[in-house]
Parts: sequence; structure tokens; C-alpha cells
Amino acid sequence: MTCGLPYVNGPAHIAHLRTYVPADIFVRFLRKMGQDVVFICSSDTHGTPITVKAEAEGVTPLDIVEEYHRHFLEFFPKMGIHFTNYGSTDHPFNHNRTIQIVEALKENGHVYAKNLKLPYCPNCDRFLPDRYQRGTCPHCGASARGDECDQGCGRYLEPGELMDPRCSICGTKPEMKETRHYFLKLTAFEDFLREYLPSLDGTDIARNYALQWVEGGLKDWNITRNLDWGVKVPGEEELVYYVWVDAPIGYIGSTEEWAERTGGDWEYYWKGPGALIHFIGPGIIYHHCLFWPSMLKGAGYSVPDAVIASGTMKVEGHVFSKSRGYVIWVEEDYLDKGLDPDALRYYIVSYTGHTRDLDFAWQPYTEKVNKELVGTLGNFLYRTLLFANRNYKAVPEGKVEPEVREEVEKTIETIRDGLDEYEFKKIADAIIGLAAYGNRYLQSREPWKLTKTESEKAAGVIHNCLWLTKALAVLMEPLLPFKVEAIWEQLGTPRKDAPLTEALEPLEIGTPIAKPTPLFEQISDETLAELSEMASKRIEEASG
Ligand SMILES: [Zn+2]
Ligand SMILES: [Zn+2]
Repeated sequence: MTCGLPYVNGPAHIAHLRTYVPADIFVRFLRKMGQDVVFICSSDTHGTPITVKAEAEGVTPLDIVEEYHRHFLEFFPKMGIHFTNYGSTDHPFNHNRTIQIVEALKENGHVYAKNLKLPYCPNCDRFLPDRYQRGTCPHCGASARGDECDQGCGRYLEPGELMDPRCSICGTKPEMKETRHYFLKLTAFEDFLREYLPSLDGTDIARNYALQWVEGGLKDWNITRNLDWGVKVPGEEELVYYVWVDAPIGYIGSTEEWAERTGGDWEYYWKGPGALIHFIGPGIIYHHCLFWPSMLKGAGYSVPDAVIASGTMKVEGHVFSKSRGYVIWVEEDYLDKGLDPDALRYYIVSYTGHTRDLDFAWQPYTEKVNKELVGTLGNFLYRTLLFANRNYKAVPEGKVEPEVREEVEKTIETIRDGLDEYEFKKIADAIIGLAAYGNRYLQSREPWKLTKTESEKAAGVIHNCLWLTKALAVLMEPLLPFKVEAIWEQLGTPRKDAPLTEALEPLEIGTPIAKPTPLFEQISDETLAELSEMASKRIEEASG
């Protein structure tokens, strides 16, 4: 299983989490159900956004890559996201794998060379690939960069498509100069894609967008650039492979890094019977559902079994935009302020369905934390553990009531449905629903009254509540991994990574129950005001 690679020209932001958090949750549940999962990611290190930034800052591309590679490597665990291997597309394995795959495509007749006339800046004395040029979008007329209509229709642009280009470094009007490039014969994969895409598992948006593109007619794809940062094309002094060639191959490169480190078998996953699952953001469906399966197929590798594309990200009601200030920098704006990583994981998956627009805003964030995590989940766990500690100091005698067991069985069923449908909100809601049931159960049985008159009954109620607490710990671990560690400690039975079936196992009577501390912290009005102010200030500064 893989997650779309973070491009390492800046720190982690909230839109990254839109993919990584659900993917991490999915992997954790798969493992709880006994699946053997290798969870792969990498830093995406090539392409012109990095070289342009390096030039602007007077450093080398490698300086930038190393700085942010380290950042992401350290960042993911802080959010509870753990990859089996987090590699780099600049690793020698990936350079070699990219060359091998393109060679295999060439041998099979899927790659050909062609001369093109492309913009060349006489002042900078070089070709202007992708972000080295700005001009006018041929589709909508908006101001655009060489690789993408970033201020208009959002379409990807192929080399040579941009109208009225200018050098983005010095502003000079470029000349057109002939240069040799390589193309992937995507048109030859049309029949394959028509047959493959309808059977591709994952979210509908991935499948449907890709099919639409096939219907609209495929074009061969330029897979090289005149640049010296990237995977060098053998025998061509001035060319590297386009970053969108070696980035997905980075999934394989990173798996090879894992295999070398652990003695694992990377080919089992990429050429053998292992299932291949990609979690991605909505902007890269084109690459993962058209180019990528065609490249794999044409080079003799397995093709993806599922592509799970998420919906888009908004911040404070507006489309996510770093330049317009609609952004949350996860370390600076969130973790460094002492806010809870689990609460953010929860918000990301519980706000809305996986393929809908997810809006991050501080007001609903605060409401969700205070009402659902503190008020419902935290409240049930704390009341149960406190009552058990004060009155029994250990798990008291009792039998799990059929009604209580049924609630847990129902929750497991809903979680399984949520996983099958890639609907993580369903899972989060089911867990809060189980805690809400626990609160109702505790409230209606009133063990605090029973202790005086019917102590055995009171103990039985608390036994049931502790059993529910254990079930919750098992079921919510993939969502709230940091908190669950604390619950296991308070329950006196560390069962990290317990299988899903553990939720239905009996409790051991007599296990000591420690004095609990509340798991979730209420967000005060003052904190909310501060956070909201930080958000509006950033938006103001960006627009001013
Ligand atoms: Zn456009
Ligand atoms: Zn120039």
C-alpha cells in the first residue's frame, strides 16, 4: 500500500493529512484483521518547483531536498503516521528502477523519440521546461506556468502548449529551438485502459475521472525534460526523465529500500500476487489511473488493484491555497501550539465523507473536540475508569450483558463496511456512537446508587463499562493511536496492536485499574479566539 508522495519543497500542511491520515488508519485496520501490509511512501525530490526555488534562494536542489526530506521523516511519526519505509525518489534504487522501466517500455515498443521545437531562453542560455516559463493558458486564456494552468482552469500543460511564454527567471521572450524528446505511446494503451479501469477498485471519483479522460481521447506523453536535476536519460547529455515518471516509480524504489533493509521480497508486491493499493489526493488521478498502470503494464509489472482518491481540502471555507493564506502548517500552527495530534486525525476523517470537500476551520474543530472527543468519548472513559478505581481498584466480577455485546458487534460490522467503502467517517461515527451508548448505559443503570443497596449489580455494571472501554480501545486505536496507549495503561493490560477480535474477548477479573486522568482536553474560548486570529492574520497578510 502506498500514499501519494509529498513534494519536498516546503513543510507539511493540512492538505497532506487529507491523504496520509486515512491511509494510516486503513493500514492499521488491515493489520488488525491479520493482513500483512507493507506501507510505502517517499520524498518526491525532482522537477522544476525544487530547481526554481533553489535558484531563487542561491542553494542547490539537493540542499532543499535534504532539508524537507528530513522534515517529513520526522514529521509523520508526530502525527502517528508510520510507514514501513519512507524513502526518497533520489535514492540510487529509484534512479536505476526508472531507467530499467523506461528501457523495458522501449523494448516493448511503447517509447519513441521525436524532435520538438521548445522555448529556449537566449539570456539564461537554456531550455525552459515546466515552471521555467510563464505565459497564457491555451485552454482558458488565464496566466499560467509551463506545466499547469495554476491561476485558471487548472489543466496540466504539455511542453510546447503554453502560449506567449516568457522565461520565469529573467522575463526574456524565448526563441524556439529544436531538441530531441522521448514519448510514452499512451494511445497504444487505450484498449487496455478501457478494460482495466471499470474493474479498478477504490473510490468512484478515481475510476470515473480516468474513464472520462479515456473517452476524451488519449495523447502520447512527453516523458523527458531539458534539465540536469533528476534521473538522467542514458545516452542523452541534456535530458532527465519528467518528474511524473520517476515519482510513482518511487513507490517501487522505496519498496526496494525496505527489501534491502529487512530482507523482504519487493517483487512479491510489484510482480507477484500481492495486492497493490494507492491512496492519493484528487489532483493526481490522471497520473495514477492512466500513465501509471500503462507504464506498469507495458514494462511487465503488476497493475494497481485499487486507487483511493480523496476529495479536496478547504481552509476556513476557502479552497486550500498556500499563496492566499488558506493553509494550516501542521507543525507551526498546530503541533507546536501543544494541540493534540489525535484530535486532528479525528477531525480529518470525521468531518465529512472521504471523497467530499473537507473544510478545516477552527470553530467546527473546537466544537468537534469539545462535544465528541471530550463530551462523549472522553467522558465515558473517564467516568468508567474513575468509578472502577475508586470503588474496586481492579476489574470487578461481572458478566457481559448480551445487549452490550451486541452493540460492540454492530460497531465492528459498521467499521468493516466503512473499510470496504473507503468511508472513514463511518468508522469515526461508529466509535463515537459506541461511546455514546456507553454513556447511556452507565446513566440508566446508575451504579452510584446501586453500590449501597445492590453491590453485586453495581459491580456488574462497571464490569460491562470496563469491557466496553477495552472494546473501544481496540476499535479506536487506528484513529487515535496516542490516546489508546494511555487507555491500555489505565486498564492495566497493554495490548497495543491487538487484533480486532480482541474487542469481543472477556476481561480478566482482578486486573488493577489505575487512577485515570482525562484523555482529551477541552479547547477554551480564549484558545479558539487566538487560533482564529492566527488564521485571519495569515489570510490578511497574503492578500495585502
Ligand atoms: Zn487554463
Ligand atoms: Zn531567462
